[in-house]
Amino acid sequence: MSQATAEVGTHCPYCALQCAMTATPAGASVAVTPREFPTNRGGLCQKGWTSAVPLTSPGRLRTPLARPRRDAPLQPVSWSTALDRIAAELRRLRVDHGPDAVGVFGGGGITNEKAYLLGKFARVALGTSQIDYNGRFCMSSAAAAGNRAFGLDRGLPFPVTDLDEADAVLLVGANPAETMPPFMGHLRPVAERGGLIVIDPRRTPTAEQAALHLQPTPGTDLALALGLLHAAVSEGLVDQEYVAARTTGLAEAWRVAAGWWPERVERVTGVAAADQHRAARLLGGAERAYVLTARGTEQHANGSAMVSAWINLALALGLPGMPGSGYGCLTGQGNGQGGREHGQKADQLPGYRRLDDPVARAQVAEVWGVDPAELPGPGRSAYELLDALGRPDGPRALLVFGSNPVVSAPRAAHVQQRLAALDLLVVADVVLSDTASVADVVLPVTQWAEEDGTMTNLEGRVLLRRKALDPPPEVRGDLDILHGLAVRLGQPAHRFPVEPAEVFEELRAASAGGPADYSGISYARLRAGEALYWPVPAPEHPGTPRMFLDAFAHPDGRARFVPVDHRGAAEPTDAEFPLVLTTGRVLAQYQSGAQTRLIPELNAAAGEAHVEVHPDTATRAGLSDGMLARVRSRRGEMLARVRCIASMQLDVVFLPFHFAETQRANLLTNPVLDPVSRMPDFKVCAARLDAASAP
Ligand code: SF4
Repeated sequence: MSQATAEVGTHCPYCALQCAMTATPAGASVAVTPREFPTNRGGLCQKGWTSAVPLTSPGRLRTPLARPRRDAPLQPVSWSTALDRIAAELRRLRVDHGPDAVGVFGGGGITNEKAYLLGKFARVALGTSQIDYNGRFCMSSAAAAGNRAFGLDRGLPFPVTDLDEADAVLLVGANPAETMPPFMGHLRPVAERGGLIVIDPRRTPTAEQAALHLQPTPGTDLALALGLLHAAVSEGLVDQEYVAARTTGLAEAWRVAAGWWPERVERVTGVAAADQHRAARLLGGAERAYVLTARGTEQHANGSAMVSAWINLALALGLPGMPGSGYGCLTGQGNGQGGREHGQKADQLPGYRRLDDPVARAQVAEVWGVDPAELPGPGRSAYELLDALGRPDGPRALLVFGSNPVVSAPRAAHVQQRLAALDLLVVADVVLSDTASVADVVLPVTQWAEEDGTMTNLEGRVLLRRKALDPPPEVRGDLDILHGLAVRLGQPAHRFPVEPAEVFEELRAASAGGPADYSGISYARLRAGEALYWPVPAPEHPGTPRMFLDAFAHPDGRARFVPVDHRGAAEPTDAEFPLVLTTGRVLAQYQSGAQTRLIPELNAAAGEAHVEVHPDTATRAGLSDGMLARVRSRRGEMLARVRCIASMQLDVVFLPFHFAETQRANLLTNPVLDPVSRMPDFKVCAARLDAASAP
């Protein structure tokens, strides 16, 4: 039986706010209570309060499983049987088809140590370029736009507590009142001051608290951003001194925006021109103002251009890199920030450096003890990797860590078909997730309270999650699994450490000098209670809470305006599919729901998919509140319970994406990719609604 080892201060296993909590021994598990920390100030949401439940849930995996044959059910096997089988199959595929015959799919919720070792395992032990992770589906558009504008991307380049003093905040495509409720404590003062502006096609609980809610048609955010920039220019709100001293490219960006006057924007977005002016005045007239984006504006086939448009607005108003003002992205997954920095992304090496940078390759190869020429180049992005599985030029085996693409990837039924075409699918997870349930080998792994590990929260602040509990006897850590496989693949044992602190020491060295420089962070500092904002380039360095105050990260120190234009939706509506479908999250579930759907309390609050629709639209489809609807797109159909909401636009429906099997919203979503970030379009596709005959 598991034993609690100590009361520890730790952090929530779910979202990027990484609320602080105390885990106290309670029999075979722990009890969770909130802990004071600047991000959550003693608050937790329902997910945090119930986060100990999966530790002892009957649905938890407690032994490795494998199928003796493709058509046989999963059966318990020993660890040596499971790892021997995986290694033998990987060796065979590499010999027969080359190193890229094996792919790796990581997650934005795994610790920095795991993300780092997973990238090293792929590139050194497997020699494959085929590694990416589900963070590609999360914040890659914001990262691409941030890098383009500022030369560097850190979700919030300032502490979350700076928002407490804001006079105006423009929140674009974010619903923290449901996705990270304690964060709302930082927006309450600005909401009370009448300075909160929310842009969202739905009247969310966050929008309810805004002084101004702009409700554009999904997919028209870029036009709206151009309208606000136009209004700012026409009302003389541009900070000319800042633009001249700290930026380049406004003239090019303006050449596009000049054609998007607010009345024209109103026709495209549905947002009244007067409200566009009002928003520009609120933001531009404030002494301390912020623009914050999130998935609603980022998860589009032109998501990176959309974020660039919002950054252009922020730059014109003189906000980024100024004390008390700024631009930031609200990261979603628990380690959405750190997960993109340490090498599990197709094009990156540890320290948030590019894989094709010869200097970075040489440094990291030296830390890894390999020849830089042996390191593969960039591979496919997440959806492209999944789409290539089992094809003649694609991977024939896939190792999945901390991800559930059968629920979370777009065009999910197609992804499931590609997974079925593999010679070998291996999933390491804490539960028999929807993806694990179709795997050939399933490896049960430790949970948040059973291991040490660092997470980097939405402010770029590195936190230590502490072990409070021994795992069940037949459950192992991901680092242990990577070690076991690497050794079986002929790697020296010392090259793949299993202790998180030891892996972190390597990560420090590998990240030194990179944008996300962790070299001054140590477990000793973190155990002593520090929580450091990167970059931290030396052991005595205090960290960098606020970035860009003196200069942006481009060689000339200036931020870049990026000229971007509005274009129509990648998939327009038509007579057969007349509705615009958009997707998102609800308060009581997290991401693909693999863990939170195990928790009775959360299921009682939100246990099945629902579709939000205007009552008149529901009536036209022969539906009413509480009925079961069949929602279809050009890629498939799913079932959801009708929730009639008068504030929904007549031609828009909303689905949460946390649910499984026939309730998967991603059976419908469009995998068309952003050309820069390779983000799929989760936020706009054409759909229709019909009555479903059976529950
Ligand atoms: Fe956990 Fe996020 Fe909820 Fe905080 S807001 S308790 S980090 S899920």
